[in-house]
Amino acid sequence: MSNLEINNIYCIGRNYRLHALELGNEVPKEPLVFTKPTHAIMSMNGNEIELSAQAGEVHFELEIVARIGADYTEDAEPEQLIDGIALGLDLTLRDVQSRLKAKGLPWLPAKGFKGSAPLGQWLPYPGASSLAGIPFELLRNGVTAQRGQAADMLFPIAELIHYIGRHYGLGAGDLIYTGTPAGVAALQDGDRLQALWAGQEVGSCTIKLA
Ligand code: ZN
Repeated sequence: MSNLEINNIYCIGRNYRLHALELGNEVPKEPLVFTKPTHAIMSMNGNEIELSAQAGEVHFELEIVARIGADYTEDAEPEQLIDGIALGLDLTLRDVQSRLKAKGLPWLPAKGFKGSAPLGQWLPYPGASSLAGIPFELLRNGVTAQRGQAADMLFPIAELIHYIGRHYGLGAGDLIYTGTPAGVAALQDGDRLQALWAGQEVGSCTIKLA
């Protein structure tokens, strides 16, 4: 992982149409933003990730993560603000989230638990037009579980940067988990996960679920 200090972790829900629909949600008309504490971050470099099964299903959500390298201003060029990208997992306690949603409660217990944001290695940001068509993929035990490309985002990264910058503020060291494509599912004990960027592994871990 980069030695840049991580400040705020913004995450986008339902940013891919097919994923919104697979969970029975409406496709949003503006970005759905939530945050995770910095304690959610852990590396994904072949390590084992221990998770608790006590609160029900833990789902994987593979996402492109953009790292912000400079402070946002209204006239900032989003392309200039991104100083790296990675693939990360937005781990989600899905049963907990379903109960919270039914009661209209905040998502923190489902999305913000310690270790809920594993991150692969940092890569140079190729620019929005190149990024759009680069495939990213999550293999579970060698089998494709999720596959996506930035072109399918409902709100592209530049739009997310403006939206978050205006409403919440955005500065150097902030991360944006940009949402997950379809294919999310519950992790099983012993699962081996590999995150692929353009076919190359850029993060991996083994899940220990107890
Ligand atoms: Zn997500």
